[in-house]
Amino acid sequence: MSVIEQVIFVGTGCSSNTPALKCLLEKKPSCKVCLSALSEQGWRNRRKNPSVLIRVRDHKDPQGRLRNILVDCGKTFYRMVQLSATFSQSALDIFPRYDIQELDALILSHGHADAMLGLDDLRSWTSGGRLQTSVPIYLNEETFEVVSRAFPYLVNKANATGGGEVASFTFNVIKANESFEIAGLDIVPLPVHHGIYMQTKEPYWCFGYRFGKQVSCITDANYVPPETMEKMKDSDMLIVDCLREDPYPSHFGYHEALALVDELKAKDNYFIGMAHNLEHGDLEQRLAEYSAMHNLNVRPAYDTLKVDISSNGETTESTWRC
Ligand SMILES: [Zn+2]
Ligand SMILES: [Zn+2]
Repeated sequence: MSVIEQVIFVGTGCSSNTPALKCLLEKKPSCKVCLSALSEQGWRNRRKNPSVLIRVRDHKDPQGRLRNILVDCGKTFYRMVQLSATFSQSALDIFPRYDIQELDALILSHGHADAMLGLDDLRSWTSGGRLQTSVPIYLNEETFEVVSRAFPYLVNKANATGGGEVASFTFNVIKANESFEIAGLDIVPLPVHHGIYMQTKEPYWCFGYRFGKQVSCITDANYVPPETMEKMKDSDMLIVDCLREDPYPSHFGYHEALALVDELKAKDNYFIGMAHNLEHGDLEQRLAEYSAMHNLNVRPAYDTLKVDISSNGETTESTWRC
């Protein structure tokens, strides 16, 4: 059985990132978190769209490199923005730091811009086969339709215009109730509600994913149905959406995210998807106090965070930025 040895948080913010454009463009910017994100010491408040890299030891190739499974590739996957004197923390600097040169799979949670607009930037990844000739993508039918509309040339190169050089993908359409395997790791879709369709008021479904026994990851959710909760039981690590203090129509707030943590009681829990209302240091302290009171381990993730998982399940956090 393949095992996960590392989890790397590529992006831990929400759809509009931190710092938020609206806060910095005010005549007299006053948002504490967004201003902090510009400073060197406030770099943990600088957050991109949610994206998590799962690194797996393939049991069929125990001496080989770790296999890389990326969850989501949004607007900020490749973002070359100089904020004050600091780095952008995009794939451009995270991937070389952690020696990521091949994507064994890219799994999409849903068809929103912050989950899939970075697909186009993978052009240089596959161009000329320099890193790899094609990236396998796993996504549900609805997300595939969105990708097809947004990027017709990525689904069928015959739709390309201009020079015709586009990213090369292999699309694998997955179903809500069917698990699939990557590098010997069993992956189970975790269907959750992520708001509604404005016209029909029907729930909009997003897929979280469970990776083997170890990790359940939900990037975007405001409700987890009981049958999905069942599929997450006994996970060692839970990664869950926490947008802000109060609930939002399409995301968990602080208390909803903690309720999920309380119910599942995974050994390690990380919040992602935070908006600019949550300051990293404040959130870390509150969660530490909550963890101590409830015998849990809940922490806010931050962009660049690497969590190593030892063979006995112990986790160690690090980043090159400290
Ligand atoms: Zn702000
Ligand atoms: Zn979304």
